[in-house]
Amino acid sequence: MKDNDIAKSTHHETLNATALGWVDTATDAMAMPLRPSTSFLRNPEDLGRAGRSFTRDDNPTFSQPEALINKLEGGGGCLLYASGMSAITAIFQRLKPGDHVVLPKLVYSGLRDWMNTHGVRWGLQVTYVDDCSPQALQSAVIKGQTKLVWIETPSNPTWKITDIAAASELAHAAGALVAIDNTVSTPILTRPIEHGADIVVHSCSKYMNGHGDLIAGATVVAPQHTAILEELKGLRNEYGGVLGSFESWLLLRGMRTLSVRVRVASESALQVAQFLRSNDSVEEVMYPGLVDHPLHDVAVKQMTGGFGGMLSFRVKGGEKAAKQLAGKVRIFRQAISFGSTESVIEHRAGMEKPDTPTPRDMLRVSIGLEHVDDLMDDLQQAIDAIAE
Ligand SMILES: *Cc1c(COP(=O)(O)O)cnc(C)c1O
Repeated sequence: MKDNDIAKSTHHETLNATALGWVDTATDAMAMPLRPSTSFLRNPEDLGRAGRSFTRDDNPTFSQPEALINKLEGGGGCLLYASGMSAITAIFQRLKPGDHVVLPKLVYSGLRDWMNTHGVRWGLQVTYVDDCSPQALQSAVIKGQTKLVWIETPSNPTWKITDIAAASELAHAAGALVAIDNTVSTPILTRPIEHGADIVVHSCSKYMNGHGDLIAGATVVAPQHTAILEELKGLRNEYGGVLGSFESWLLLRGMRTLSVRVRVASESALQVAQFLRSNDSVEEVMYPGLVDHPLHDVAVKQMTGGFGGMLSFRVKGGEKAAKQLAGKVRIFRQAISFGSTESVIEHRAGMEKPDTPTPRDMLRVSIGLEHVDDLMDDLQQAIDAIAE
């Protein structure tokens, strides 16, 4: 790596487009090489752990994407993982049996499922809250016992908003840490650490990589939590949920366009949300960018540059009509996941376990980078098709 002024920029567009401006000093290559080596030569003078040793612990290909994500989040260090789930579970693996955690009911379903099986078996005490409002959190946290408050904002799949600053203040007063799943917002729109969060988690399989062709995760700790970073680093090595070097390289490649992708998806999603809200066949639109979203003011306060590419809507006519509508789209793809270049639509409750709290008449939409008129026309023709 060579010195440059790029990393001093406060603009995410510059940080992303240049991937912090790192250059390979051995070759002057502007795209850093992929280094798949599993093992690294030891220093003959110091046969202990001099520098890198084994890739399950650390690999030079991780360094640049970790530095970029850390910079974007304003953190004290970042670690990459084999998936968003392995990043999430790493945060809970720090905890001890008997520790109390607070989780929203409507949270990424993979976490809810893990908590109800393995988390509970591990001995974690869980309280689920309907939302992460100050009132709900106040009655859920137990001073001295609650170790972690988990927040997703906007939360999957109904896009509720949590005031990170208010939640952090409350959690800290009870002695708990706050972890934010920032997958949907990305650091382009929200930097949770600035609002008081302790740990940020990402599924990089979504917007961070942005091309629907890789599974990865990341954790970032706030600057005061370097001890937690060391602990997480040890856990990543011990549990082995480390990202492959090729995936790390590909993730960085995807992140170079993160700023533009998130901006375009946010602009189009707002238009699609407004279009759906004025549509007679739609019962309700869930999108934090709409002025009548219950916590639009909080979204305005903690999201900058847009409200993200994710929205959901409830279809008049219930579950049957919703499923029919999802089956009639021609440009949207009916599929799981989100944050890729192409738009997808999904009957979310049908993908989750039978006990899911997700509304059954609801479709979840990820807005991609197609022309927004094509997307609105497509939804309109699908609505017309089921009305016939
Ligand atoms: C997809 C997702 C995850 C899980 O990430 P994987 O990379 O699929 O393991 C976690 N949180 C949110 C909000 C997600 O959308």
